[in-house]
Amino acid sequence: MARKTPVPTEKADKSKLASPANGKIRAKAAKDSGGREADAAEPAQSKQGIQSQGEVMAPADTQLKDATSGKSAQTSGVTVAPVAHAAAMVPEPMPGPSGKSETKASAMHRLPAGDVDTRSRNLEAAAKPGFPTEAEFVANLPPLPVDEPQDESHEAAVLQAIEAEFSNLPSVTEADWEPVAAFEPEAVSAPQPEHFPQAPAIPSLFIVQITPELAPVAKVGGLADVVFGLSSEMEIRGNQVEIILPKYDCLRYDHIWGLCETYGDLWVPWYGGAIHCTVFFGFVHGRKCFFIEPHSTDNFFNRGGIYGCNDDVMRFAFFSRAAMEFLWKSGKHPDIIHCHDWQTALVPVFLYEIYQHLDMRHPRTCFTIHNFKHQGVTGAQLLNATALHRPEYYFHYDRLRDNHNPHALNLMKAGVVYSNFVTTVSPRYAMEAKDQGQGFGLESTLHIHHQKYGGVVNGIDYEFWNPGLDRYIPSHYSVNTIDDKYRNKQALRGRLLIADNEKPIVAFIGRLDPQKGLELIRHAIFYTLQRGGQFVLLGSSPDGQINNYFWSLKHQLNDHPDCHIEIGFNEELSHLIYAGADMVLVPSRFEPCGLTQLIAMRYGTIPVVREIGGLADTVVDKDFSDQPLPERTGYVFRDYDDKGLESALGRAISCYYEYPEHFRELMKNAMRRDYSWKNPGQDYLNIYDHIRNK
Ligand code: ADP
Repeated sequence: MARKTPVPTEKADKSKLASPANGKIRAKAAKDSGGREADAAEPAQSKQGIQSQGEVMAPADTQLKDATSGKSAQTSGVTVAPVAHAAAMVPEPMPGPSGKSETKASAMHRLPAGDVDTRSRNLEAAAKPGFPTEAEFVANLPPLPVDEPQDESHEAAVLQAIEAEFSNLPSVTEADWEPVAAFEPEAVSAPQPEHFPQAPAIPSLFIVQITPELAPVAKVGGLADVVFGLSSEMEIRGNQVEIILPKYDCLRYDHIWGLCETYGDLWVPWYGGAIHCTVFFGFVHGRKCFFIEPHSTDNFFNRGGIYGCNDDVMRFAFFSRAAMEFLWKSGKHPDIIHCHDWQTALVPVFLYEIYQHLDMRHPRTCFTIHNFKHQGVTGAQLLNATALHRPEYYFHYDRLRDNHNPHALNLMKAGVVYSNFVTTVSPRYAMEAKDQGQGFGLESTLHIHHQKYGGVVNGIDYEFWNPGLDRYIPSHYSVNTIDDKYRNKQALRGRLLIADNEKPIVAFIGRLDPQKGLELIRHAIFYTLQRGGQFVLLGSSPDGQINNYFWSLKHQLNDHPDCHIEIGFNEELSHLIYAGADMVLVPSRFEPCGLTQLIAMRYGTIPVVREIGGLADTVVDKDFSDQPLPERTGYVFRDYDDKGLESALGRAISCYYEYPEHFRELMKNAMRRDYSWKNPGQDYLNIYDHIRNK
């Protein structure tokens, strides 16, 4: 990785970039303040003024507030603390970008003079008695929830309901049970690359995706991105793709073009009757989409959100039935129906148990599992609702019966049993789920169906996630103009009101779910600050306890000049973070694929990840790998503990400070990797072709 000619470091870039941009900010601030243009136009003067006067009156109209976070950056008329005082409060040395020691105060001296809000916030912050240490913070709060698959409150509630339901019914006796062979996982050393059957020339296919999520109109996590990206890739390759999803009230309608009613008279069987539905058609960034809107008092999709209701299983069972009824009534006979996660896992069941007897024999089904943790466990009521009569048939161990609770049905298991092919989202996770106890109870089912099971690593949509075109970032760049990335870093700091200094920005973007490694995320915040970095977090959780925990953390670190915690879902901000950060952290307990590290690499942002699932398949450690240097893209750690995390994050921060040229090369390596849908698209086409001939 050694270079003959020195590459410009970030420091050099910033000296080039800072003046013009800051000049603009200063001019605006001064204009707002009413006739202080002369001062504002002269950066040296302003800076000198701040440092020597010791006190700064902020312009009257600069009561800027971070609206999304509620963070107050009010500066109007506030006399901020003198710099000299700030320096006294923060004496500890930390490594500077050149390897020299510097203090927070000296870093603050380099703040752009015109960035009034950031500066005053920092000085105020530095004047406080001190921010909590991690130990102090942890001592004041209950522990974070741990990821116990059997202890999910929602599923527990569902199971309770099932028990109640069955207490009035003749229960399944031991005699009815099929003998189940004890499950003994085979020892498997390392995952092998998947080799799907090769098909040199695949004719154009008609593919229907039935999905609960689609980016960007209905997005909770990576599933939404995957359906959009895969559909685009399939169309680029000359296939016809249609997508069916619920017409949620919370759809991003601003991303749907030409929405119109296309089928007004769809009656979907439900509990011995039928629910009237309207089907709408619209384009989502060029993809053809059908949105199903049921009209019933259940209000299935008018809940203000996508998931999180007690009747989620029923809502999506209805959607799956409605999607199949729509295909049948409208005379569509796709070659492939591709469904996703437990929400649409009943689609292959309906196809083979109902619709093929109604002359729908052509379609084949592919079922993709994005996360084994959520399986859609429910009771016999489901069978009544969906007209899958014959409970004794469906409660058979070989069909829908949950592997652990003989009184429960498991939708994800149904999808595995009934589909023609089952994929999960990386080869490593496919192996972990089948052989290493990550299948949340479905290990034995995966073993039984192993011949139609495999892992295809996800891609990302290279048009949507493109630092050269991204409409949410102010400065476009590519691997050849990587210096321009740092304008985004400045913009990010301006947006989040964190200090403009030469520290690396470490970011976390994702659901605040125990799966994502919440304790390690918390530790990473304090560790990064201690090692002379900045930390930015963007995330949210439907779990109130977790949200409160991070709100509390945010509250305590709100005024820290080097930290910003943003609770919520914000697509636009996520793009700016990917472009502006130096590192993205993914310390998951388990991770089926993970898109954040793939997006980060696309934006030249170095992933720091745990060696697990798709993270292990996609990130190659800079220092510890047998891959050639140009293949190395980030930092990897194995053990799920503070020391493990520090071993990777510490190396990344050290490299940033001590070997900036190496860090720059690593950024370029990451940007050159191809994690588009090109390769996974071909894998899926091979799978489609394989099953349609069966
Ligand atoms: P998962 O599917 O487990 O949620 P992935 O890493 O596969 O995780 O995908 C997460 C996707 O959701 C990425 O596109 C990420 O940028 C996005 N995302 C997650 N949380 C947020 C958030 N709070 N705001 C914006 N985007 C988010």
